[in-house]
Amino acid sequence: MAKGIEHDLIMIRRDIHQNPELGNEETRTSRLIAENLEKLGIEVKMGEGGIGVIGSFNVSDNSPVICLRADMDAIPVQENTGLPYESKVPGVMHACGHDIHCAVVLGAAEILSKYGNQLDGGVRFIFQPAEEIDLGAKAMLEQGVLEDPKPIGIFGLHVWPGITLGKVGIQSGAVMAAIDSFDVTFEGASAHGAEPHLGHDALLAASMSVVALQRIVSRTINPRDPAVITVGSMKSGAARNIIADSAYLSATVRTLDENVRASIKASVHKTISGCSDACDVNACIDYTEELPVLVNSQEMSDIALESAKRVLGENCITKIEPSMTGDDFALYAERIPGCYIFMGVTPHGHEIIPLHNPKFNPDEKVIPAAAAVLAHACWESLRQ
Ligand SMILES: [Zn+2]
Ligand SMILES: [Zn+2]
Repeated sequence: MAKGIEHDLIMIRRDIHQNPELGNEETRTSRLIAENLEKLGIEVKMGEGGIGVIGSFNVSDNSPVICLRADMDAIPVQENTGLPYESKVPGVMHACGHDIHCAVVLGAAEILSKYGNQLDGGVRFIFQPAEEIDLGAKAMLEQGVLEDPKPIGIFGLHVWPGITLGKVGIQSGAVMAAIDSFDVTFEGASAHGAEPHLGHDALLAASMSVVALQRIVSRTINPRDPAVITVGSMKSGAARNIIADSAYLSATVRTLDENVRASIKASVHKTISGCSDACDVNACIDYTEELPVLVNSQEMSDIALESAKRVLGENCITKIEPSMTGDDFALYAERIPGCYIFMGVTPHGHEIIPLHNPKFNPDEKVIPAAAAVLAHACWESLRQ
């Protein structure tokens, strides 16, 4: 059935691709999605400020509801694919494939809408903004997408360049990392660079912290537990002969286990306090827990797995390593059973172009295939 709607879905995807919008600016994309859902007879509610779309099909209080989620935002990348439908917006590109996700969930909506009241329940379609800046899922949750009635589960997908087209990664357990971040401001005191004993060197305290932070993963975490601490930015100092009175660090933390996550948070505070104390410098740490680990439920993963095999063939499943990147789909999957599916988009033998790369060009054949997998998974989970 998905084959018949392939052309229209590709046209929609190209339209979104040519007109990318950054996180929390997706008004045009939201309108386009809403129009297409309405054409299918699906009830539409717009998100706050016309950003984000919630489609309801066959939803009632006395039957189960299943959710499908797509993200809609592009990222600040200058496209360099040379495609005829290249981005028309300078410096903005769908380099994470969220344009494909929108087309896939619209495709699933079209397939499911054809079943009408043969479905054993309802489907809620969540098109959320601002995944890349971790704000979209939060906003949709505040608007009650997982209430009245509370859905029995949720499926979502990400196009995945490391997987060959036609293959799919589906497994239960942790599949994407928790994301935390911290910023540190060090306050010391200036002095002449030739008289360092008269000052308190904030730059040295920051430097010692950067080095000592690397001890946390290598010496306090079990080597079998994946964890990353990356200090990606450090700013300090005005001139070669002045002891710096301030310094600033900015870092990201990725973990796949909530205990490891808590342990790292405590160690970061201890490490920075120790280094700044040793330098007689004051350190102010601003630590933010942004997203939990994305954990796929056994139940929803089993349904997705069987659906993928039915649609794409018995041999379509490929083993995936959990990714240290994160996704705010984790916030839905923390509240109701969920499964995040990784769809292969690189044709066999082709070079793998990573996500967020200006040449990223996922194969559009994934659209009807993924739409059929999601539609089948919804159908099955309502039947069970
Ligand atoms: Zn991304
Ligand atoms: Zn993405």
